[in-house]
Amino acid sequence: MPLERRGLVYPYGMARPADGALAEVAEGVWWLRMPLPFSLDHINLWLLDGGDHWVVVDTGVNSPAVADHWRALLAGPLAGRPVGRILVTHYHPDHIGLAGWLSRKCQAPLLMTRGEFMLARVLTLDVAPEVPADVLAFYAAAGWSEEQIRRMEAAGWGRFARGVSRLPTGYQRLRDGDRLDIGGRSWTVVVGSGHSPEHACLHCPEAGLLISGDQVLPRITSNVSVYPTEPEADPLGDWLDSLARLRELPEETLVLPAHNEPFLGLHRRIDQLERDHHDKLDRLAAMLAEPRTVTACFPALFGRAIATDELQMATGEALAHLAWLVRRGRAEVEAEGSVRRYRARDARVPVSRPTAAS
Ligand SMILES: [Zn+2]
Repeated sequence: MPLERRGLVYPYGMARPADGALAEVAEGVWWLRMPLPFSLDHINLWLLDGGDHWVVVDTGVNSPAVADHWRALLAGPLAGRPVGRILVTHYHPDHIGLAGWLSRKCQAPLLMTRGEFMLARVLTLDVAPEVPADVLAFYAAAGWSEEQIRRMEAAGWGRFARGVSRLPTGYQRLRDGDRLDIGGRSWTVVVGSGHSPEHACLHCPEAGLLISGDQVLPRITSNVSVYPTEPEADPLGDWLDSLARLRELPEETLVLPAHNEPFLGLHRRIDQLERDHHDKLDRLAAMLAEPRTVTACFPALFGRAIATDELQMATGEALAHLAWLVRRGRAEVEAEGSVRRYRARDARVPVSRPTAAS
């Protein structure tokens, strides 16, 4: 039963299919929820009726529980037709985790954007006995303590490879604007960036549906981070640009997100996300009247203590906001030994607000 919350409408309320069970959300479009072993306890996958085959969108994390759900689905509700295409929105392990396994099991090609596939392939091969020195230097520069650095060293290098089933060598490339025929309906690939390098969403104008992956979520904010792979990146700039592009889709689109529940109110949600980031930028800029390390910016951004297992993500997220300010001339970096500090260039200049109307 429909529910309205914070300006968004959830047509199915907070009802959700049980783990591993299917629920039809639109003609030929099935919602499949899979468990996650994180504080975020689930991911939504989508199954599309391709006529003579199934199209799977995202695969779940590489865990025995999720593989068991897939085996039961393939032997049960999906048994009449083969899985013919496996589409993965982006390289994060909850989305790509079982893609290689499922692709081999079903003899089905993997469809991804080039940026996401290549990054996933690189990361699955990036295993080393020790954490690279430039990675440790990156986090030391952000203000991590020696103990925090030692803990990262002890955890080792290659976590991604351990968490993802072996990927196929080849894939089929998705590009922004590509149209896929799925069961007689046309779905357009809409690429976004900022949460991951080349994230694919799928838009079906005819059915008024958007499979949004992690690019738009109704109740949680997608992680937007700077990583040691690209220390000077501006992912928040990419992210805000991508949100502006998604705003071009019709407001009445039913959004099928990778986490939380399907919702209506795409533009409203984009407004909320933009406002949230700009509020954070304002608080951050105000705090930089005194030079601060990245970790010393956490109170402005998160307003709470950061747990040890959140430290890396919080650092990446804080860096993304700082990089946005630096790129736009609102802040500057001072290096003192191996540690970097950020200072507002003029604390009195307010950070610009988004001007786009909804
Ligand atoms: Zn993600």
